[in-house]
Amino acid sequence: MVEGPLQEGIVARAVAKGLLDIRVHDLRDFTTDRHRVVDDVPFGGGPGMVLKPEPLFVAVETIRAQRGSPSAVILTSPDGETLTHDVATRLSTLDHIMILCGRYEGVDERVREHLATDTISIGDYVVSGGELPALVIVDAVARLVPGVVGDEASVARDTFARDGLLDYPQYTRPADFRGLTVPPVLLSGHHAEIERWRREQALERTRRHRPDLLANGSERAAKSERSEES
Ligand code: SAH
Repeated sequence: MVEGPLQEGIVARAVAKGLLDIRVHDLRDFTTDRHRVVDDVPFGGGPGMVLKPEPLFVAVETIRAQRGSPSAVILTSPDGETLTHDVATRLSTLDHIMILCGRYEGVDERVREHLATDTISIGDYVVSGGELPALVIVDAVARLVPGVVGDEASVARDTFARDGLLDYPQYTRPADFRGLTVPPVLLSGHHAEIERWRREQALERTRRHRPDLLANGSERAAKSERSEES
């Protein structure tokens, strides 16, 4: 489930270039019983199964012994800290992170309390396992590691990175597509005006679609709004 996506695109190229090293581990390899069981019924009853603590603890201990202590052990969970640009930026400065993927009803609480250093959610919805969230975390963090995205200016102007605002609208050729035209300023060749238009659009979009980013969110976004008004 995770190896395929890691063999494509920006992350795969970064691995090939030696900028990232990503290892995928199978929890069942850290079991000791014949059936390689990783889950059990919840104490207190209720539906579904819970991932047992032992294989996760043994996995982290084994990998730590082989590859050194990670700077963060991240548990994926819908009740964690929401993954944002700022969280991804912080993680991108760490040299070794481990990501634990839950399944079924989740993991034994002792994993969160005594093994994980961070708990991260990719958003307020539930997916059926931690694999897709882990891939989202890897991709979002990898883009912020210097050299991973060929054109660093492109990362710096992405939504959230650029002054904490949403991205401005982008157009490409043709200038007239079935009568749908491109804003003339973009064809004007006036770089200062293009820059001003893009800032206005980014602010306008942020006000309309994500006023929370201006109201209580990013310090940078609020600063951008103030400088626009002055
Ligand atoms: N019963 C749990 C959901 C378990 S979903 C609850 O209500 O909170 C199974 C696993 O999928 C979780 O252990 C976690 O690893 C992963 N997962 C599901 N949704 C996620 C999300 N929004 N962010 C990060 N991980 C998530």
